[in-house]
Amino acid sequence: MTGRAFDPMAARQKQGAARLGIAVEEYRRQNAAGFEWCSGHQRWCRREGFYRRADRWTGLDSQCSDASREYAREYQRRRRAS
Ligand SMILES: [Zn+2]
Repeated sequence: MTGRAFDPMAARQKQGAARLGIAVEEYRRQNAAGFEWCSGHQRWCRREGFYRRADRWTGLDSQCSDASREYAREYQRRRRAS
């Protein structure tokens, strides 16, 4: 298809792959298998585990909900410790 409008999915995969230093094909393969890169776990996590975020251009949070919870817990622990 030519003359297509801006494709956010393709742009996201290209940018995501560049950020991770992997081939865009590998990024596409993970997406196709139902995975998204999780910035919290620094690995591929199931897409169902990510919160939807309308305010982000990707439409998804940058980390899965498990990572968000772990981060919150760690943050609370540190606050109590200090
Ligand atoms: Zn995760």
